[in-house]
Amino acid sequence: MIGTLIIGGGAAGLYASSLLPDATILEQNEDCGRKLLLTGGGRCNYAHNAAVPELLPHYHGSLPFIRKVLYSYPPDRNIDHFRRLGIEPVDENGKIFPLSGDSHSVRDALMSHRPAIIHGRAVSIGKHDGIFIVSTEKGSIEAERIIIAAGGNAYPHTGSDGSGYALARMLGHTVIAPSPALAALSLEPSLGKAEGVSLDITIAMGKTAVTGSAVITRRGISGPVAEDFSRFLNGRKERITISFSDEDIHTLREKHGASLLKNAIHIPPRLATALLGSIGEKRIANLSKAEEREAEGKLHRHPFLASPIASSAMSTRGGVSTAEINADTMESRSVSGLYFIGDIIDVDADCGGYSLGWAAATAAIATESISGSSGL
Ligand SMILES: Cc1cc2nc3c(=O)[nH]c(=O)nc-3n(C[C@H](O)[C@H](O)[C@H](O)COP(=O)(O)OP(=O)(O)OC[C@H]3O[C@@H](n4cnc5c(N)ncnc54)[C@H](O)[C@@H]3O)c2cc1C
Repeated sequence: MIGTLIIGGGAAGLYASSLLPDATILEQNEDCGRKLLLTGGGRCNYAHNAAVPELLPHYHGSLPFIRKVLYSYPPDRNIDHFRRLGIEPVDENGKIFPLSGDSHSVRDALMSHRPAIIHGRAVSIGKHDGIFIVSTEKGSIEAERIIIAAGGNAYPHTGSDGSGYALARMLGHTVIAPSPALAALSLEPSLGKAEGVSLDITIAMGKTAVTGSAVITRRGISGPVAEDFSRFLNGRKERITISFSDEDIHTLREKHGASLLKNAIHIPPRLATALLGSIGEKRIANLSKAEEREAEGKLHRHPFLASPIASSAMSTRGGVSTAEINADTMESRSVSGLYFIGDIIDVDADCGGYSLGWAAATAAIATESISGSSGL
């Protein structure tokens, strides 16, 4: 019988395995860490180096749970672990990348102890007489402890197809309905005529507002601000506003009355034309009061209908309820010997190395608890 079986050889499962080398990984793909290889544009932004209070606003979910996890395993412990594995960090404004500039080096480092891997797909799981029995299409596996590290349901072609949620449910856990996060947005009306333009914008919905850089696409917007905002749409189409500029046209009139509006405002002309239409072609001094108001409405809090483009989502909002997981150990509160780590938990994070930091922290807490309790 296996001591600890890790279901999922992605970022979290591999990290756990690097700290608990005797564990066995069950991975449905022929190779491990497919999503990990795609991270950071192939460079792998594996951590975000900042003090925990600065990290907290970038995580979404139960604050007490998140706080406990991050204080238990802050980024410096993660970066040190990678150093021990031979990965030297490069810090780009807090975003940590490997010196190699190649995500393969991160995956290889996490697997340098040559973990035992069973290739197969966990299709069902149960616990009988204190033993976990995991069924795969090739047969069943018995284990004393299980770490579920099967990810969320973003980028399903990398293996994280949401099947981990079904396994959690089979063991009696509640799964908060998953929806896309870190996704590009589709907008109605679209700004397709300005496709390719990049600029800083603020997206708002009710009291929620996110500011950052965006790229206009044929269907809507992409870039960090769209990705960080997408989780708040909860997978739905919602009314939002976008502020493209905070310039006051009344003030512009005093300074640049003779200029065409589209040339005087500080947004790229192609976007100005797409947003303002014929008003943009007028000299500012000639704008009527109504046109001035209309232009401000289009620049400052321009209304759109927005929905996340699910196929572009890099992360998942929702997952196994944190109320049912002990944040000190990552162990299920109802099934002893069962642990959850990584994206499968109902916590998601902004772009910038926070998600892989979460995978690492939850993996480390689970493995420290297992090593401590089993005397490994
Ligand atoms: C394009 C892209 C870029 C990203 N860039 C960054 C970045 O730079 N920095 C950052 O912090 N985060 C980034 N992320 C997010 C990051 O990749 C995830 O947070 C991280 O991979 C989550 O790790 P995980 O182990 O929980 O899940 P995953 O990495 O998704 O791994 C889950 C594993 O479980 C396996 N599995 C699933 N179900 C079963 C089953 N039933 N049986 C057996 N095996 C199963 C899967 O095949 C997979 O290998 C990015 C994500 C994407 C998509």
